[in-house]
Amino acid sequence: MVIECGGWGCDRLISISTVPGGNPVALSEPDAWAIEFSICEDCKEPLCDRCTRKRTRGFRAVRCPWCHGGLIDGRHRWEEVTSRPYPEAITRYEEGLALAEAGRIAEAMPAFDSAVRLRPTYVLAHFHRGIALGELGRNTEALEALDEASRLDLFNPLASFEKGAIHEELSQPQQAIKAYDEAIRREPRYIAPRINKAVMLNELAQWDEALAVCDDTIRIIEADQGIDGAEHAYAHIQAAKGACLLNLRRDEEGLAALDVAIANGPDDPLTYRNRGIALERLGRHEEARLSLRIAEECAEQDN
Ligand SMILES: [Zn+2]
Ligand SMILES: [Zn+2]
Repeated sequence: MVIECGGWGCDRLISISTVPGGNPVALSEPDAWAIEFSICEDCKEPLCDRCTRKRTRGFRAVRCPWCHGGLIDGRHRWEEVTSRPYPEAITRYEEGLALAEAGRIAEAMPAFDSAVRLRPTYVLAHFHRGIALGELGRNTEALEALDEASRLDLFNPLASFEKGAIHEELSQPQQAIKAYDEAIRREPRYIAPRINKAVMLNELAQWDEALAVCDDTIRIIEADQGIDGAEHAYAHIQAAKGACLLNLRRDEEGLAALDVAIANGPDDPLTYRNRGIALERLGRHEEARLSLRIAEECAEQDN
């Protein structure tokens, strides 16, 4: 039997084998497969040995990163643990999540509320409660809930990223950038906060800093080391780079970045508009007009 490690950004599979010593295929490819793993007694999420080790600090026992339950030896106790019923806090959280995913946010709130009341250290319940509060426009409470999730799990970059998004919505760019920085510090390979940070810095006219973030991020994606699978991440970061370069009056390079963005992503009016500006400045008027016309058409399609 094969299960996936639940560690964020980890794509190892866990082989649960009856073969003594473990499945030989799994043993021969330790980067892809784990034999040893932990399992949470409460939410029953598995965590591979590498993810477990990463979280070990001194003599303190590692707790479940999602629900703060006890972690035990999964290899020997998987069957026993998975056959037990879930504690009420977990059931309430799952109920809230199902309602939230169905778009019934207001109905999800009481379930999330009782999950965090029953278990104040429940990281994932605070996190999804925060997202739900944000969707209800209760931004101050949302930030508090996300702060709590962030504080409870120092490895978790997701809550920091979501905080950034809420600060952006509240037109608080400095706080948004701070939150994105926290997400990046926690997980340098996490692409989404890098893209948002670059766009924010560009808007704040901090073009050199923005460009540095773009170049770093492009390097990570090109080395295939990025995680989180943000859709069209490569196109977004190239578009952001193009915008920075135009602001720095490096039009030729800006045009090259915008062309890469267009070749790698969906039609985006802003990218075509910037491309039109670059071409215009470079004296390529006919192509500039064409690009601006495409920008208008894209914008109309979007509406
Ligand atoms: Zn758990
Ligand atoms: Zn793992």
